[in-house]
Amino acid sequence: MSKLFKCRLCGECCSGEMKVFLNPDDLLLLRSYLNNCSEEELFSRNYLTWDEKSGVKQPRMKFREFQGIKFCPFLENRLEEDGTLLGLCRLHPDFKPLVCHLAPLTRTIDFAADSESYGFMLPHPACPGCDPDVEDREELSYENLADDLKRRLAREKEYFRSLWLAPGD
Ligand code: SF4
Ligand code: SF4
Repeated sequence: MSKLFKCRLCGECCSGEMKVFLNPDDLLLLRSYLNNCSEEELFSRNYLTWDEKSGVKQPRMKFREFQGIKFCPFLENRLEEDGTLLGLCRLHPDFKPLVCHLAPLTRTIDFAADSESYGFMLPHPACPGCDPDVEDREELSYENLADDLKRRLAREKEYFRSLWLAPGD
């Protein structure tokens, strides 16, 4: 995957109007990271909020705002000695949400057609880690993912299936 993508740690995809939706595994990891807090605390402490995606309510990161700039509560800026400002993820790697781990690989599921596909999507329009002119992205595939991520994808699919079968009100 390295030839096609190398994160430059700019933090762009962790800020602004990005919406980071989470699955039940992600919530468990977050709770563990936050000293085994309860799921309710993830919301009451303003880490998460509810939002609608694909017609159903789902939890997503609640971005903080400072001087008009919105950013993920787990984004940490670090100024390097050469003046470079890095945007680091405090959850990386062990507690990081699945969608953040996968980027720039994305999954599309069509339960009605019983199909699933993977593709490339820029994590952010201005992402400096991806060369938009690269055409051959075969390396970027489900097959090349770590087994742990494949297991998380399988569990997430069942979660999505339950949402699809019983959409919220
Ligand atoms: S926008 Fe691209 S380079 Fe910047 S942090 Fe996100 S993935 Fe990495
Ligand atoms: S969890 Fe980490 S990688 Fe994901 S948006 Fe927040 S800071 Fe960025």
